[in-house]
Amino acid sequence: MTTVPTITLNDGNEIPQLGFGVFKVDPDETERIVTDALEAGYRHIDTAAIYGNEEGVGRALAKSGIARDELFITTKLWNDNQGTQAAHAAIDESLTKLGLDHVDLYLIHWPSAFRGLYTESWLALEEIKAAGKARSIGVSNFQVPHLEEIIAASDTVPAVNQIELHPEFQQRTVREFAVGHGIHIEAWGPLGQGKYDLFGNPAVAQAAAATGKTPAQVVIRWHLQNGLILFPKSNSAERIAENFDVFDFELTSEQIAAIDALDANNRVGADPDTATF
Ligand code: NDP
Repeated sequence: MTTVPTITLNDGNEIPQLGFGVFKVDPDETERIVTDALEAGYRHIDTAAIYGNEEGVGRALAKSGIARDELFITTKLWNDNQGTQAAHAAIDESLTKLGLDHVDLYLIHWPSAFRGLYTESWLALEEIKAAGKARSIGVSNFQVPHLEEIIAASDTVPAVNQIELHPEFQQRTVREFAVGHGIHIEAWGPLGQGKYDLFGNPAVAQAAAATGKTPAQVVIRWHLQNGLILFPKSNSAERIAENFDVFDFELTSEQIAAIDALDANNRVGADPDTATF
């Protein structure tokens, strides 16, 4: 059985560095697909209330028979549930859907700054952690000023910031701030969500040829060797297994540097500073 390396978060809890994400996994297919992931060896699942598939994740977890303490489950507070009361209700609803009494990580999904509620929501997440409903708390899609504000207003530095991050969008500013404050970065869209030809890029293709691995495995390895936490998504049992089969090789420093050089400020998702949701 493959052992996935863990990272120790700033609250002392450990997170498996590689997990499985379920954004855009059809709720009707989620139980089967998460079961495939658990059978492939994944123990870290990243979902969100807005994905509409927490119940399917919960059914797969229950059916698996895997001990709770071997699993690491993340879900997220959706934007229209920001604010103290709504956040408390939202975690309870997520836990009910997941069939769990706590999650391992609860995140504010987006700052959604126009609502003016992310700091209040962060204080609610502190209470949710204190109540034992989330072992760790963090944020997602936060830019440096958002992070500075919640750190100044609370007693808790977020354990993670989950942000869009892939070879053509490497987020150096937010990463530098995170490193300086003990915040671990989770890379969403680690494969660029398939929105540009990452796998055909010569730096990736050459590393794949040299290592005998696939381009996706090379990109996942690049994230891992950069100290990032990631959870690539796939609907295919074959690719789910492929994305997990990344612990029998290493990229050289030259191969890492060639992929580091691909940064092109190519954001493929929404910009947190201009998002209107
Ligand atoms: P990814 O970068 O993981 O890309 C997923 C795409 O890559 C799918 O089209 C998938 O197709 C394809 N793919 C997966 N594996 C392979 C492979 N081995 N070879 C070729 N193609 C492959 O994008 P996601 O947006 O899913 O990001 C991962 C996770 O991050 C999400 O599932 C979610 O948990 C999280 N996330 C968080 C966000 C946030 O705002 N906090 C926003 C977006 C994502 P197929 O399914 O057909 O295999």
